[in-house]
Amino acid sequence: MIRVTLDLTCSICDHDQFHLPVRADERQQVRCANCAAFKCYSADLENAMISLARDRRRRSGQHRADAA
Ligand SMILES: [Zn+2]
Repeated sequence: MIRVTLDLTCSICDHDQFHLPVRADERQQVRCANCAAFKCYSADLENAMISLARDRRRRSGQHRADAA
């Protein structure tokens, strides 16, 4: 396991540091470094971060849509 700070937050405790599995790890689960809650599979991590970024972009561009 390696401990990293990600652009994600834990849904349980709002922590932004996570344990990433190393390649030898079988389960490949990304877990919160604080409360060990399961976040996602490492294979899905990139997608999770991409969708989060997309979500934020959508939210910041929402003002015009709301006014219309
Ligand atoms: Zn947590």
